[in-house]
Amino acid sequence: MGEAQVSLEHLFRVFTKPEHKDSKLAQIEQHLSDNILDFLSQHVVTKKTSLEEVEKDFADAFVPESPEFVSTHAESLLNKLVAHSVNTYSPTFIGHMTSALPYFHLPLSKLMVGLNQNLVKIETSKAFTPLERQVLGMMHNLIYGESDAFYEDYLHSSRHALGAFCSGGTIANITALWVARNKCLGPAPGFSGVAKAGLAAAYRHYDINNLGVLCSKRGHYSLSKAVDVLGIGREQLITLPAPRQTLDPEKALQVGKRYAEQGNKLLAIVGVGGTTETGHIDPLDELADVANELGCWFHVDAAWGGATLFSSQNGYKLKGIERADSVTIDAHKQMYVPMGAGMALFKNPEDANAVRHHAQYILRAGSKDLGSTTLEGSRNGMAMMVYSALHIFGRRGYELLIDRSIEKAKAFADMISRHPDFELTTTPTLSLLTYRVVPAGLQALMQSSDMNTCREINEKIDRLVVSVQKQQREAGKSFVSRTRLEAENYPGQCITVFRVVLANPLTSHNDLAAILAEQHLIATKTALWDQLVLDVEKQSERLSA
Ligand SMILES: *Cc1c(COP(=O)(O)O)cnc(C)c1O
Repeated sequence: MGEAQVSLEHLFRVFTKPEHKDSKLAQIEQHLSDNILDFLSQHVVTKKTSLEEVEKDFADAFVPESPEFVSTHAESLLNKLVAHSVNTYSPTFIGHMTSALPYFHLPLSKLMVGLNQNLVKIETSKAFTPLERQVLGMMHNLIYGESDAFYEDYLHSSRHALGAFCSGGTIANITALWVARNKCLGPAPGFSGVAKAGLAAAYRHYDINNLGVLCSKRGHYSLSKAVDVLGIGREQLITLPAPRQTLDPEKALQVGKRYAEQGNKLLAIVGVGGTTETGHIDPLDELADVANELGCWFHVDAAWGGATLFSSQNGYKLKGIERADSVTIDAHKQMYVPMGAGMALFKNPEDANAVRHHAQYILRAGSKDLGSTTLEGSRNGMAMMVYSALHIFGRRGYELLIDRSIEKAKAFADMISRHPDFELTTTPTLSLLTYRVVPAGLQALMQSSDMNTCREINEKIDRLVVSVQKQQREAGKSFVSRTRLEAENYPGQCITVFRVVLANPLTSHNDLAAILAEQHLIATKTALWDQLVLDVEKQSERLSA
């Protein structure tokens, strides 16, 4: 029975600083912290409980009537929540972009929550606001490399912002396109601008049917959310096919011109600096030329890949990013910061003013409050985690981590290519790759088959890949994700593939070999595998008859 008294005295105690370091609260803290460390040293999934079972622990929709002791509550969190969480720190969890964190973030996060500063406004975040501005400046410098004088002028200027710190890549993409929209349909003689007058009036004033955003099919789904919330409409997100995984600049130019000829205005071209599904980088330099020629905004979504700029060996892959009007980078991906840290950076420090808002009690004109140019209102001090990580790793530390991940991805790609029963579907540009499991004989057979036969075979392989991915996940030792892609070798067809993101520095060559071996074992035990092998035998008999 963990029910506590309903008394102000009890509640005040919860708000009061613990007296000794061996107080009850300190003990709870130690207990929780021991449990987390213990949990993080286990398999990806420790308890094989079905989702339906877990849901039973969170089934009633009632606010508890009485208070509970913190100690009792902590115990219940350990049982219901921690026990059934996914261990994203495991070196064999190689399926997602947000995974293992350096342990220094645990004490740092306590500092952040302990201070609970609100970045919307200097009154509640003196020191944190200058720090956030500096972090934005460092990232701006990494991308655009302006002069010292430039940063001296703009870093702490109340009339400028080098970027917007936000909770993630989605909000960063929305913020960047919001700025682009407000500039594109800005105030003009006889028109107060889209921010004030709205889209309908803006379209009338500028005499356009629609505003559009252009990217490849590999563009992140947050772009679709962005055109939706900005009132542009999802149908105006023009996504070009990308059989080779990147946006073709010539096609982009062609489609952009046609779009304008139809009485529309192209708002922006979005180049991706490391796609979420395959890690490919669009030809940013050429896309900057296209945007120039079409007279539209150029945004680069480098939410995941942006950190590659830390590497002097691999940074060149993002060449042209410095010509973007805006860039999205997530610190919670390859910068190893806890989730909740995204940034939109603006080439021109004036641009953020296109979305500037003022309010009387807060965000007064002339203040240095960052809240006047961010989409979000109250925000925590996540910038501190980025600041600390930047200092603790340093550029050279990040460089080492990035270079190693890319090397590891290449080594894993080799391992896959050498295995007769696996097929590499996309080679790694960065530390992301895709592949699938296919019996060796079938791979040979498909090379001499027509497209229709290939389509039938691909559908069977798709089912095999899905089944292997699910069984591996359920077994709980390792985790690889999956996605569907247009396949370069089979025009017009989509195939299901395993997707690997090498994010954890501790993932070893042996871990990767074990993951592949496990997938092979699971695959060869399925009925589908036997059927595919039988198909190959029948086919070769027919050919030799
Ligand atoms: C992850 C990602 C996003 C979205 O970022 P969130 O932080 O999940 O909101 C956008 N674009 C790309 C390319 C990404 O990899």
